[in-house]
Amino acid sequence: MTRVAGASADLIVAASTVITMDQGRPRAEAVAIDTSTGTIVEVGTRAELTASHPNAALTDLGAATLMPGFIDSHSHPIMSGMVCREPAHWIAPYVGYPTYRHVTDLFTKLDAETPAGEGLLFNGLDRTLQSAPELTNADLDVFFPDRPVLVLDNSGHEAYFNTALIRMLGWADDQAPADPVGARYGRNADGTSNGRGYELPAVMGGAVPFMAKVITDPLLSAAKWYRYMAENGLTATSEHTYNTPLLPAITALASLPDSPLRLSIYHMSTEADAAEPLVTTAPESMVRKVGIKLWADGSPWVGNVANSFPYLDNATVRDAGIPIGPGGEAMMNYSRADLDALLDSFAGSGYQMAFHVNGDVGLDVVLDAYERALTLQGLNGSDHGWRVEHVGGARGDQFDRAAALGVGISMGPFQFIYWGDLVDGTLFAPEIGSQWQRFGDAFRSGATVSFHNDGTVSPPIPLLNVQAAVTRRTGSGQLHGPEQMISMDEAFQAETIYAAKHVGRGAEIGSITPGKFADFVVLSHDPYTVDPVHLVDEVKVLGTWRSGKPIDLDAFIAEIEAIDPARHAGLHEHATHRC
Ligand SMILES: [Zn+2]
Repeated sequence: MTRVAGASADLIVAASTVITMDQGRPRAEAVAIDTSTGTIVEVGTRAELTASHPNAALTDLGAATLMPGFIDSHSHPIMSGMVCREPAHWIAPYVGYPTYRHVTDLFTKLDAETPAGEGLLFNGLDRTLQSAPELTNADLDVFFPDRPVLVLDNSGHEAYFNTALIRMLGWADDQAPADPVGARYGRNADGTSNGRGYELPAVMGGAVPFMAKVITDPLLSAAKWYRYMAENGLTATSEHTYNTPLLPAITALASLPDSPLRLSIYHMSTEADAAEPLVTTAPESMVRKVGIKLWADGSPWVGNVANSFPYLDNATVRDAGIPIGPGGEAMMNYSRADLDALLDSFAGSGYQMAFHVNGDVGLDVVLDAYERALTLQGLNGSDHGWRVEHVGGARGDQFDRAAALGVGISMGPFQFIYWGDLVDGTLFAPEIGSQWQRFGDAFRSGATVSFHNDGTVSPPIPLLNVQAAVTRRTGSGQLHGPEQMISMDEAFQAETIYAAKHVGRGAEIGSITPGKFADFVVLSHDPYTVDPVHLVDEVKVLGTWRSGKPIDLDAFIAEIEAIDPARHAGLHEHATHRC
């Protein structure tokens, strides 16, 4: 279909080329839009569209290229804004802090510049990539003798507190409270805290009271992450750690006229109301609950992944505290029986199942459980939309099996971009490590494949994902596993049309097709005409459109700033630093 029958357009947007990501008509020159509905009426040449819509206004984007807006299929925008945007300080290795020395230089600078007594929150310390030590309060006290300071580890599994923060938390005699279930606090021999908290309940136990002091406008922090995503060409994303207390903030973000992003919600399976419908005043086209998020295993950078293969035994692995393994099924968060019971309770809800799983053993178990549950529910062959998330260590044959089950594969190119050099030959043997994130095998399987940046874990830069997947080169430029390269078309499918399907909006967004929303990214150049090795250097995001309207990010932030911060003051208590 090139035109919606009977619909009329009041705006034609023309560009040097329109890359539609619609196989029925891959290229065009212009798009006719009905701005009253925000939808695409017709796609074609300038001459065709001006002839069919003689009264429509024309916006000519000149030399720019128009594409469907990019979609991040797995993210955590609320938490990302709070710990990766100001007033927090993001210190991940790939946002300007490649070594621990860069981090400590920032510590020194900020302690000198920041008013006395004011707290500082850091996120993204990475022990493997930055060769950073596992900090103690004494280590932090060297840089911050007086002000309270919290440092969150990049994995989300660990936090570090200085002595001033321990005092601020009111821990009697500097002793940490009793360990929460599934977590623990680090302690010295005399019982005092050593400034460490391990696993989410302990991390948040220290972080939540402090964040309330440092993050004075959490909704604005979240909005800054929305802005950051839009600046990189995204027009839709997902919240993969949703719980109901986030709803007022999500509703506020989605209800503003200049909101840049549509949001698909995945409710954490650990919440009692995970299968309940979402009730919000925001338009359904902006916020929709589509899935339930479950966790099969952990992070390859921490070592709690259900792999069939071991880590290499060397100083890097040992210094990071990673067990050599192989981890196998012992690393799974659920037994197979627990997992079946979870799916029995959720599979009939009509929501997608979305399972975090990195290890190959974990993926075997998840696919076994999916196959059983799909059969029991009579969902085989239906458009159920169930997904697997990240799948760094998966084998090619597992993707074939996912494809046969109709399970979508949501991949994290960031694992390859930022950790790929380390994975290939340092963390794992080259036959495993060079293949980490098997983009080629995933596409060859025939499954739908999307890409994601996973909120706090990596900067949301779709063009960098495309560059890395097409060239199979990491951030440093090194080549690993060239057999896992994919084509430019496939990489953009993973950021658009397949990502739209994965976030439960395949009929509405993801391609420039009549009937879909007019959500676009405007690029400086046609990405298919540049050397893919230089894609992010040569192709710039000039802006985005949502529902047939250019997004004004300054207006969006102004709309957020007009909301009383007190209305969302408790937001930090409910955003979860778990990917
Ligand atoms: Zn995640």
